[in-house]
Amino acid sequence: MDRTLVQLLFVEDSEMDAELSVRALEQGGFDVSWKRVQAEEDLKQALQSSRPQAVLSDFSMPGFDGIRALRVVREMSPGVPFIFVSGTIGEERAIEAIRFGATDYVLKNNLQRLGTAVRRALSESAERERIRLAEEERGRLVQILEATSDYVGMSDPDGRIIYLNAAGRKLIGAPKAGGIDKQIGGIYPKWARDLIGQEARPAAARDGVWHCETAILDADGAEIPVSEVTIAHNGPDGAIRFFSTIARDMRERKAYEARLQRYANYDSLTNLPNRTLLGDRTLQAIAHARRGGRPAALLVLNLDRFKLVNESYGHGAGDALLKMVADRLRGVVREGDTAARLGADTFAVLAADLARPDDVLAVVRKIQEAMRPSFGLEKRDLHVTVSLGASTYPRDGEEFDILVRNAEAAMHRVKAAGRNGFQFYAAAMTRQATDRVELENELRLALGRNELEVHYQPQLALSDGGMVGVEALIRWQHRERGWIPPAQFVPVAEDCDLIHPLGEFALVQGCRQVGVWDKAGLAELRLAVNVSAQQFRSSGFVEAVTRVLRSTDLDPYRLELELTESVLVDNREEAVLILKRLKALGVQIAVDDFGTGYSSLSYLSQLPIDCLKIDRSFVNRVHERGHDAAIAQAVISLGHSLGMRVVAEGIETVEQLGFLRTHECDEGQGYLLSRPVHPDAIARLVALPPRSQLAPFSPVPPSGLRH
Ligand code: C2E
Ligand code: MG
Ligand code: MG
Repeated sequence: MDRTLVQLLFVEDSEMDAELSVRALEQGGFDVSWKRVQAEEDLKQALQSSRPQAVLSDFSMPGFDGIRALRVVREMSPGVPFIFVSGTIGEERAIEAIRFGATDYVLKNNLQRLGTAVRRALSESAERERIRLAEEERGRLVQILEATSDYVGMSDPDGRIIYLNAAGRKLIGAPKAGGIDKQIGGIYPKWARDLIGQEARPAAARDGVWHCETAILDADGAEIPVSEVTIAHNGPDGAIRFFSTIARDMRERKAYEARLQRYANYDSLTNLPNRTLLGDRTLQAIAHARRGGRPAALLVLNLDRFKLVNESYGHGAGDALLKMVADRLRGVVREGDTAARLGADTFAVLAADLARPDDVLAVVRKIQEAMRPSFGLEKRDLHVTVSLGASTYPRDGEEFDILVRNAEAAMHRVKAAGRNGFQFYAAAMTRQATDRVELENELRLALGRNELEVHYQPQLALSDGGMVGVEALIRWQHRERGWIPPAQFVPVAEDCDLIHPLGEFALVQGCRQVGVWDKAGLAELRLAVNVSAQQFRSSGFVEAVTRVLRSTDLDPYRLELELTESVLVDNREEAVLILKRLKALGVQIAVDDFGTGYSSLSYLSQLPIDCLKIDRSFVNRVHERGHDAAIAQAVISLGHSLGMRVVAEGIETVEQLGFLRTHECDEGQGYLLSRPVHPDAIARLVALPPRSQLAPFSPVPPSGLRH
């Protein structure tokens, strides 16, 4: 038989009695390691320094008392069994001893019982310890359950709640302590209750666990979305003893997902749907239109000269304007239609379920009406016009991308035609795109066949009407198509390498022509030549200009290169370098179409620029004395303050001329003064007396070309 090792502490005045007890225990199957004390102090010390598994104590000793020893042990080592081993012990005292917490007592004349008593005491204390540890463990788990923010509940197979943690109690508004007399079903909304009853419990019973998204009702009856796990707990017999439920509040996650969804589908500045969402809605509208056989239309609108608002008032103001525009748009679209923001200052409206494609005109009119009142911005009243283009399903496309592209093409058409208007997409616009390829081939041939020529538009001093310069404008007389305007073929040339020979052609022709005029004895004229971005940035440009000046022997000072704002703004460092090299040659620099681009005036003032050409879209409306007049006026005075010459382009009426003269614009150019003409006609124009040129006069007919 296995022997049991045991560590004992004797409280005993007689060494011999202790030894007798030890022997009895050894006979009962124990290996005993022991220690003996007989005074209170020694007992305390022994309990402190060692951990006996049991204390065996005499009842009455000369210097100590068994009951007293019992008290000390209970106090210092409460779980350790305490057995009296005594000569005599009356029944009364035995009862008292048990009351004070003794585990057992054994009479010294019956020591053979000692082994059994010790064995039982040890096993009882081990069991107590096991229970204590289990209790401790349970306490910790409950602490965790009570502290977690997840809802944890347990219910019996009949659905009665037997436990709900603090988070759960708080959520459903149950009292902190005390039972929850509630069916588990009562904490769910009906749909979730059905789900739990019909699916969760059977599935958990079958598979052990079940999870799903459900909802719990809070104290006010509001649905809280939760992600829930239901677990079935079986007893040893395999029958289900209870179910537990762990549910996590998903409100924050749902809100976060909703925010993400919003980011993905809405424009953060204006809160309008973005391109993605518009695409989805268009898809739906198309499906609907297909079934109902009714057309749908996509409108694209762009604010006219929005860049100027950003430029003059700052981006904050630009953003504020975009928001106001968005609000007005929202105000005009019908329920079921969608207003969206496609990008920067481009918006779109999807008009679904139209009776006829032309019904979109009503939407256009509403938008134009909505934009008409001025916008209050930075304490000013700003008038905003929009350019609109529309494409319709199914006529102009059956897919979102194509519909947008075509509506944009129509909108760009409106821009090109002077902004502030509306146009339907026409298939011809796409045809134009295919024409481009053809045009490129023909342009290549034209350069070789001398179908290109350069005409000149006079630039007059507005003070006295004297011609001070000419702008070289390239012309293409096509064999079959007749005259093709530069606005059509210059961009094509810019898209391929043809812009280089084309630009050089204009430059060489112009410089040569000035030599011809000089020889004919005309007054000294300045020659303005347009330079496109591709030319300006090409590696040999400065060298080409140098070469042409040298070969034609033109005084560089008389050549003015016209650049657009965008050329100067993109890649500034490079632009500044090229400008400096050109200035070193002695040529002059003009900014063409000024006011249409994005350049900041303060930035331009840092560049070596000699001349600003006010774009003709402003000149066009100066007589209306509105926003455009103010800009024209500002450009004139600003140009002067920076020591620049200011030229007005596109003067067509006497009123415009009058306005520009009043505000001391230096020079002017436009159909009123003269159309671009064949070089031979220039001599005749120069010969006109200056004053008469400034009076309204019938312009010289443009040498067989019709504009
Ligand atoms: P731009 O440099 O702004 O030239 C002025 C344009 O305005 C010319 O159009 C001219 O005919 C037109 N114009 C002049 N006065 C009036 C007026 O009173 N009313 C109206 N409505 N228009 C007027 P054009 O000749 O059709 O040239 C268009 C554009 O093509 C030019 O605009 C320029 O950007 C480009 N271009 C012309 N020739 C060349 C060239 O040799 N090289 C480059 N790179 N571009 C050129
Ligand atoms: Mg020009
Ligand atoms: Mg211009």
